[in-house]
Amino acid sequence: MNRVRCLVFNSALGPLDYRVPEGMVVEPGSVVLAPLGPRQIIGVVWEAERLPGAEVPANKLRPILSVLPVPPLPAPLRRLIEWTADYYLAPLASVARMALSSTGALRGGSTVTEYRLTDKQAERLTPQRAKAIEALHSQQATIRELAELAGVSDAVLRGMVNAGLLEPVLVDSDRPYPPADPAFFGPDLSDDQTVVAAKFVASVHAHEFQPYLLDGVTGSGKTETYFEGVAAALEDGRQVLVLLPEIALTETFLKRFGARFGVTPVTWHSSLKSSERRRAWRAVAMGSAQVIVGARSALFLPFANLGLIIVDEAHEVSFKQDDGVRYNARDVAVMRARFESVPVILASATPALESLQMAESGRYERVILPSRFGGATMPDIHVVDLRVEQPERGHWIAPPLVKALKDRLEKGEQSLLFLNRRGYAPLTLCRTCGYRFQCPNCSAWLVEHRLSRRLACHHCGHEVPTPDACPECHEPDCLVACGPGVERIADEVAAILPEARVALVTSDTLTSPAKAAEFVEMASAKAIDVIVGTQLVTKGYHFPELTLVGVIDADMGLEGGDLRAAERTYQQVAQVAGRAGRGEKPGEVLIQTRHPEAPVIEALASGDRDAFYAAETEARRDAGAPPFGRWAAIIVSSEDEAEARDAARGIGGSAPNLADVMILGPAPAPLSLLRGRYRYRLLINARRSTELQRVIREWLDQLRFPPGVRVAVDIDPYSFV
Ligand code: ADP
Ligand code: ZN
Repeated sequence: MNRVRCLVFNSALGPLDYRVPEGMVVEPGSVVLAPLGPRQIIGVVWEAERLPGAEVPANKLRPILSVLPVPPLPAPLRRLIEWTADYYLAPLASVARMALSSTGALRGGSTVTEYRLTDKQAERLTPQRAKAIEALHSQQATIRELAELAGVSDAVLRGMVNAGLLEPVLVDSDRPYPPADPAFFGPDLSDDQTVVAAKFVASVHAHEFQPYLLDGVTGSGKTETYFEGVAAALEDGRQVLVLLPEIALTETFLKRFGARFGVTPVTWHSSLKSSERRRAWRAVAMGSAQVIVGARSALFLPFANLGLIIVDEAHEVSFKQDDGVRYNARDVAVMRARFESVPVILASATPALESLQMAESGRYERVILPSRFGGATMPDIHVVDLRVEQPERGHWIAPPLVKALKDRLEKGEQSLLFLNRRGYAPLTLCRTCGYRFQCPNCSAWLVEHRLSRRLACHHCGHEVPTPDACPECHEPDCLVACGPGVERIADEVAAILPEARVALVTSDTLTSPAKAAEFVEMASAKAIDVIVGTQLVTKGYHFPELTLVGVIDADMGLEGGDLRAAERTYQQVAQVAGRAGRGEKPGEVLIQTRHPEAPVIEALASGDRDAFYAAETEARRDAGAPPFGRWAAIIVSSEDEAEARDAARGIGGSAPNLADVMILGPAPAPLSLLRGRYRYRLLINARRSTELQRVIREWLDQLRFPPGVRVAVDIDPYSFV
């Protein structure tokens, strides 16, 4: 047949048919270049019967221009793309685009010219050149990327090339990665670990779909255990995908991987250079990249020969993507494993209720590591009632925690204070007139960042220098910081323990993999006494000398009351508590709260995880919430407030009247203005058995909206703002 149907990369267009010219060979999955009007467009050849479209008469068909030099997208990936688009109500083209995530790779293997600094010493440097030289040490990338890194123009760098300060390097985008050695360093596993690892190994060799929930306390050696599964896949010549919730965690992971397999794995995340993306993508597609470690976007890479998927810290909310295609990488990972017929391991010390429920119902196999490796004990947990043990005025660390911090410093042990709020203070106001600093684009306060002397919006990135006077009443020196952020806690620690070496760990300070590595190095070498950090330090780290963890405000996560607030608080506090006492010395955790009687705090204090999950399960069941019922959200936004409201009302007004479906709203979103767009929300609650996607699709398909209105559907939402 010389006619093919293509999924083209334009969400506004349906599938298009093309003619295959004489001598050209295509198959489903082939990535092609095709004409569209006067332009060219990238498309993927698809099974026509799976992609309904309008029949075009044969004499009207235009020919495919060329087949791009990449392997066809494999069938399991095509099925995953279809499933994801269908489940999350996303355009097929948008999902497929996540799979073809390096345009460079599609052009084929070739050499790229990158540049790096030479040894040449310049006589006199312009300030721009000096700035570039300062910034580009040990960097090698294209001119464009270097310009971005150095914050100078391309022209400055081209001038430096001509002056011999930068030299070109030819880089082959298809040069192979060094091979991992499954037997490089096999650790002696404990008895519990051996049992679990044997399951993974057998499952990998069986090449069958099998989801596992690896449920092991913090420090039990989950990583060591699933590494045995990785080794099994390597022995079989198959590829492995490891998903991590945060790029900041990859550094530690890469080190451990290197110690076990002798090489670092291939990484995939949004801050890769384009040449790295191209190389990694092509190596994945050709089967030569053995192990890929990445953020959620790695899930759609075109693996040639996948043997195992691992989702580490699988309970993490960051696996849920909240813009573009709103998918949950944890759930899509399980689907991918199913289409690929391979095992998938969801690892966590604090599994999501949804995952536990899947294990309960027998769809996932739950494997347990009940104790810490090497005889380390779980930490002692104590609650500090802030209503009784009050911190000093304008301070946030209560006397028992102050005492414990002093004690650790005397003993030369490390402490960690956790507060999930970046910056110095969440709100700044004028003492004289009461003026509050608010973001002009969002309904949110500006957060003071004292280190960078700025007020910043954490939603849209809007920033202003912190002024000296109130912009409203012009009174100088009248601004007061309200509430704590980590920077303020670090100041407080410095005041209590002037001689302590304090490290602040947030996304503002660990801005690059190198900075993350430096922090790990210093903490491991005991060059840090007190770590003050956000959720970034709650997981992944293993510092044997860390014996005290203080949770500054355990109640923070409970405010706002979204459906998973208690679960999230439990997970966060349990994870950060899990950083204490991982070595030979026992750990202690102090949780500061105003609600010691709240079930989640009681569960944390008594270490009764099962009781917490049982109570939480009942509450969810009563509310018809996931995993017992289903939720979906419709988010309507526009730069015009009235337009957004009218569109939302229009959707509400045409809501289907079904017995199993309850519709709440429309109502202004809690974050009613975001990046200059006014937002309204509807929340849909349905029984498990309801075909929720079909209901929503039919409901919205009959409506038309003005061009300025965006309507987004969020299936299984995690965010309710
Ligand atoms: P988890 O991910 O469950 O919190 P880790 O995998 O980080 O636990 O293991 C905790 C620590 O114990 C790590 O430093 C790890 O290297 C060490 N460890 C775990 N299992 C073994 C083992 N079998 N042999 C040697 N060290 C181990
Ligand atoms: Zn903003």
